[in-house]
Amino acid sequence: MPKVVVLPGDGIGREIVPQAMRVVQAVIKDSPVKLEFEEHLVGGAAIDAVGKALPDETLKACLEADAVLLGAIGGPKWDTLPTAQRPEVAALLPLRKHLELYANIRPVRMLPALVHASTLKQEVIENVDMVVIRELTGGLYFGEKGRKDNPRSAYDVMVYNEDEINRIVRFGFETARKRSKKLCSVDKANVIETSRFWREVTLEVAKDYPDVELTHMYVDNAAMQLVRYPKQFDVIVTENMFGDILTDLASMLGGSIGMLASASLNGQKGLYEPAHGSAPDIAGKNLANPLATILSGALMLRYTFSLEQEAQAIEQAVEKVLNDGFRTGDLAQPGDKVLGTVEMGDKVLEALGSR
Ligand code: NAD
Repeated sequence: MPKVVVLPGDGIGREIVPQAMRVVQAVIKDSPVKLEFEEHLVGGAAIDAVGKALPDETLKACLEADAVLLGAIGGPKWDTLPTAQRPEVAALLPLRKHLELYANIRPVRMLPALVHASTLKQEVIENVDMVVIRELTGGLYFGEKGRKDNPRSAYDVMVYNEDEINRIVRFGFETARKRSKKLCSVDKANVIETSRFWREVTLEVAKDYPDVELTHMYVDNAAMQLVRYPKQFDVIVTENMFGDILTDLASMLGGSIGMLASASLNGQKGLYEPAHGSAPDIAGKNLANPLATILSGALMLRYTFSLEQEAQAIEQAVEKVLNDGFRTGDLAQPGDKVLGTVEMGDKVLEALGSR
């Protein structure tokens, strides 16, 4: 039976993942594909329990699984640990590396019901519908890093090899082919050598995709254009750190960071998680928005298990709940019906039931 490893992690991860599980289990109830779910420790919770953010048993289970559903990792309790032992560095990055999850996909869609939840103007964000593809296992976050004395300094090295660029850019072109055949590659080729190389390889790959219109944009301009006129974008492909920053920025184009789902893929195998962190400020209070995690569950059904109908059913149920005016605190406007994490999960289940 195909296996899903479930990693709630820390903070609100423990609240939002159970809601996503309820929804995924409900939607596949009548499907011929049966999934086995297995929960494991990760992050600060794993440090507390067994002294290690990514226990061997957890890593082994993830390597053997077809998909991993993750909540969030980290929190103030573990912030003072040396960098290499911190939950995000010691669990999240190695997990991505071991599973070779080189392609991170974040669909950003402005649902009409949420136009008012964004801090951006309605006419700017209405009908935004784009996909940001971020390279996830290379670049600055995985390069050599360290400290030196005299003068006291620190360094992080950014390296990309040809294969790493080729496969992610190709993924971008393939995605663009299935959408409106427009791909924007974001770099900083006016200053950074890795970016100049990125652009060179991208142009070589482009020869295999003459039907896709390729544009290049510097990352600083891309940040500005994303808030100035986001509708110009359809598929964006970029390296790890630029993607990290631009996807958080782009989350406001979808209403709230609590709405942004993500899939990190290596072929069919994938890790699915909300784009936000463990939100220690609201953890344990039933205040977190579970929709990004529920939508990540939909991406899992789509990309790993090819259950397109079920994935769409979840997406439509989420849209219905929002159209009906239900909101968690992060999305609420004065006068809205504000729900807690569990109650939002209940509403999505109800909407699924009424399909
Ligand atoms: P965060 O995303 O956790 O929170 C930022 C803000 O957004 C907070 O005000 C939070 O309350 C709000 N928020 C986030 N998700 C929400 C949701 N689902 N519903 C409602 N509000 C939500 O980012 P942060 O505060 O910078 O980081 C907190 C911790 O999470 C840190 O330890 C950080 O390292 C970690 N982190 C983990 C991941 C991950 O696991 N992938 C990603 C980012 C940050």
